[in-house]
Amino acid sequence: GSTIGILGGGQLGRMLSVAASRLGFRTHIFEPSANPPAAHVADRVTTAPYDDLAALAAFAASVDVVTYEFENIPTAALDVLEKTHPIRPNRRALAVSQDRIAEKDFLTSLGLTTAPYAGVTTLDDLHHAITKIGTPAILKTTRLGYDGKGQARLKSPADAEAALAQMNGAPAVLEGFIDFSHEVSVIAARGTDGSVACYDPGENVHKDGILSTTTIPARLSPSQRTDAILLAARILNALDYVGVMGVELFVTRAGLIVNEIAPRVHNSGHWTQNGCAVDQFEQHIRAVAGWPLGDGARHSDVVMENLIGDDILRVPQIAREKNAALHLYGKAEARPGRKMGHVNRIVG
Ligand code: ATP
Ligand code: MG
Ligand code: MG
Repeated sequence: GSTIGILGGGQLGRMLSVAASRLGFRTHIFEPSANPPAAHVADRVTTAPYDDLAALAAFAASVDVVTYEFENIPTAALDVLEKTHPIRPNRRALAVSQDRIAEKDFLTSLGLTTAPYAGVTTLDDLHHAITKIGTPAILKTTRLGYDGKGQARLKSPADAEAALAQMNGAPAVLEGFIDFSHEVSVIAARGTDGSVACYDPGENVHKDGILSTTTIPARLSPSQRTDAILLAARILNALDYVGVMGVELFVTRAGLIVNEIAPRVHNSGHWTQNGCAVDQFEQHIRAVAGWPLGDGARHSDVVMENLIGDDILRVPQIAREKNAALHLYGKAEARPGRKMGHVNRIVG
């Protein structure tokens, strides 16, 4: 059988491994930290940092295709892997999603709407950006941000200096604050044959910058739902994408605004595990393995709740609930803000 190489051994890598194993593949995880969530389910794990190019080359030699669970893979590592293997999704998808400015440049080049934005390194830049964009606004590091980390909100121009200090000297982007009614995401997949399949959009609620719940179906008019799916397909086609992508959207009276894209399986797609015949993890494995995409039609309405930090203490009660599917990541220590698991409640 063939082996799927997965960069990253967190919960996404773990759930990808389970899906791959169900389809008869072996998995080999590459992960710098010891004893990650995926280690318990993968066939093989290499524990090494991304600058250990010899370890990466040996990893590549043992697998048939390389995919990943996170988008911040260093360029030098990708160079080594790409010498011998297809990286799916491809490097352009990674380059675009690693950098918030490249991402917004790409999205606007497709005719899609993003928040107004301007690159910022110095306080001078920031004052110029505020003149152009106004306040309220959000300053974000262009790279490496997740779960709302590396972000500072500006209520007025007076907040400029404090916001910039929070970037710790890293390049940043100022975004106009979007007055959205709610947030939705499209989990979309594209196969090696160019076919595209989108899951029904979910509605996302964040708490303290971290995804808290995803509810399916989302509150969207039929035309908004069509718009959401068509714009996701446009993004995947433009990137010649292979795999699953998460596309985060703001719903406004003026239409849909693209917040960001993630070139991987996405937390807001976890509901598919209990709402669809083929979930996002199997869909991703099918795509990167060159299989036909599976049936992602929604057979149930689902509310996905993330179990973050001490939420894990509620597992004994949740385990008694009807129509509640628990997915736990096997993490030993429950730190605040740490994603420990999720529960999919079938509600219709
Ligand atoms: P993720 O964990 O999804 O990768 P992230 O750290 O990349 O998160 P964003 O998705 O950019 O962060 O922002 C986190 C949340 O902050 C958004 O889901 C949204 O609720 C809010 N937010 C971000 N940008 C804006 C904006 N321009 N206007 C209004 N709200 C915003
Ligand atoms: Mg993000
Ligand atoms: Mg986000």
